[in-house]
Amino acid sequence: MPSLSNRSRNNMKGLHPDLIKLIEAAIEEVDFVVLEGSVRTREQMMINYGKGRSAKQLAVFGIPAKYAKPAEAKVTWLSNPFNSNHRVHGDGFGHAFDACPFPVNWDDTKSFRKMGDVFKRVAGELGVNIEWGGDWKKKDYPHIELH
Ligand SMILES: [Zn+2]
Repeated sequence: MPSLSNRSRNNMKGLHPDLIKLIEAAIEEVDFVVLEGSVRTREQMMINYGKGRSAKQLAVFGIPAKYAKPAEAKVTWLSNPFNSNHRVHGDGFGHAFDACPFPVNWDDTKSFRKMGDVFKRVAGELGVNIEWGGDWKKKDYPHIELH
């Protein structure tokens, strides 16, 4: 039976208790890793938003020019860089995490779908309302958030 790695456990710190319950139940059915930076600091959000954007684009949100990495690939399409559900919410918890099926293969959408299906079904059983990024028009396969 799959189990949570120490790395996954570490990345779960700060997540909403309902998401922790969900992760602990889902790992009994499908193997995955919880990715680094589940709860993002403001700094991490600025780093992410800077990828694929110019200093001028960042200035709109008061993000210092040093974060601008226009030559790198974009990693986020948020209209407001600080609106991510990975931030710490008013209740003190993160409301989203990213997970990747194990063994890790980013191109294996089939495994991501299988993982997403397990998360959705288990969430239903626990009475936790979630959204999986794989169901979005702009696919975000690793992403799971509280709704
Ligand atoms: Zn995410």
